[in-house]
Amino acid sequence: MATSDVVVVGGGTSSGYFCRGLADNKYGGTVTVLGAEPHLPYERPALTKGYLIKGGFPVANFATCAGRGLDKADKAWYSANKIDFRTGATVSSVDVARKAVTLSDGTVVSATTALVIATGARATTLADFKTRTDHVTAGLFYLRDVADTDAIIAALKAKPDARVVLIGGGYIGMETAACLTAHTPASITMVFPEEHIMARAFPPEIAAFYEARYTAAGVTLMPNSLVESVAVDGAGAATAVGLKSGEHLEGDIFIVGIGGRPNTELVAGQLSTLDKAPGGVVVDGQMRASADGVYAIGDIAAYPCKMYGGEVSRFEHVHSCRETALTAAAAVAGAPDATDLDYLPYFYSRILDLGWVIYGKTEGEVHTYGAMASTGTAKFGAWWVKDGKVVGGFLEGFADADEAELKKIAQERPAWPHTNEVLSKIGSWQ
Ligand code: NAD
Repeated sequence: MATSDVVVVGGGTSSGYFCRGLADNKYGGTVTVLGAEPHLPYERPALTKGYLIKGGFPVANFATCAGRGLDKADKAWYSANKIDFRTGATVSSVDVARKAVTLSDGTVVSATTALVIATGARATTLADFKTRTDHVTAGLFYLRDVADTDAIIAALKAKPDARVVLIGGGYIGMETAACLTAHTPASITMVFPEEHIMARAFPPEIAAFYEARYTAAGVTLMPNSLVESVAVDGAGAATAVGLKSGEHLEGDIFIVGIGGRPNTELVAGQLSTLDKAPGGVVVDGQMRASADGVYAIGDIAAYPCKMYGGEVSRFEHVHSCRETALTAAAAVAGAPDATDLDYLPYFYSRILDLGWVIYGKTEGEVHTYGAMASTGTAKFGAWWVKDGKVVGGFLEGFADADEAELKKIAQERPAWPHTNEVLSKIGSWQ
């Protein structure tokens, strides 16, 4: 049985930042990373942006930690930092008590100091919602990793005038639809069960702005539409989806983006996990799980948010991946400045020629301001106000300085209305 001071299960974005954090803290022990994908860690957000727009480019071009403006961690970087990064290595079981993992080829590796669980999340499937898809052999896609995105790109190349149906009106639906406008499909249709797109974050007035831009870009939006079945031809290729309304929507390429689920199965029953929302592996502020020497980082980590009184939260977002990874790395390396993560929720997206950010919570009443121009540059924002305080903010068409102010406000949570000088500075857009 091989041993390593640190063993990381999973080779995604959080894994890449964890390795970077160990190197930055001059960790001197041995490190083994086991990742199932054939690639070194990459910046996953690029998939539904430049990668899909351009029809793919070398994965090394968007290796971590490019998202932080740092040098990209390529093969040479891992080797220079003496990190044994094994790609194509699927872990089939984890023995938390022994900090030992078994690979699908039977190899066992155990950690002497720290076992880090970084298994991420997977795309929620239609079957998870009891929509049968076992009869579908082609034409139905999910989008989580490079292989998924390459399969979509290949389908678009095989049929450039395809009718594309996007199932889901959240991040994947919105970003993928935007990417597809750079291709030549005969049609792009987005179906989702809510009244408007991005229902989990946007109030109706903000959603209406983006919906108008999508419509102008040639995307057909079908709100209040829940997919309940998939029809296939004789060869099993998807030809249509059946909606709850009874309607059938025909297409050639169907891309599903209906949420994500944390990959906790390898440690369920061994570590404290949450069955109910937010789900994931319960960790403390330094990503330590319920067993000694075991950590969880990235999409699966459910950690206490200091600024919300220790409320346990889990964020499926690259920013949380990076922060949880760097926090755990400092703890594992015994860095003198290792400390509990003080996380401020942050989300962003870039679509069409637009770009938005959210800091803080999207709860309570919403106050919008600025100009929601129907064409060209738009510059507007919103505040979420709860119990008389600003708890979160939104910006579209912002400058870096505006974003910095927004972040500060979301951290400080000043009283509403504009009692804060900074708040009125951004509000002066109105
Ligand atoms: P999401 O939760 O953002 O959106 C899911 C959408 O699918 C919702 O509109 C939901 O109502 C809809 N839906 C559910 N069942 C449906 C059905 N049967 N028929 C039609 N619509 C249905 O999830 P996502 O877009 O799949 O994103 C997956 C993960 O990837 C998320 O965790 C997200 O945070 C992450 N991601 C983030 C970004 C970003 O932050 N910019 C970009 C891409 C992906």
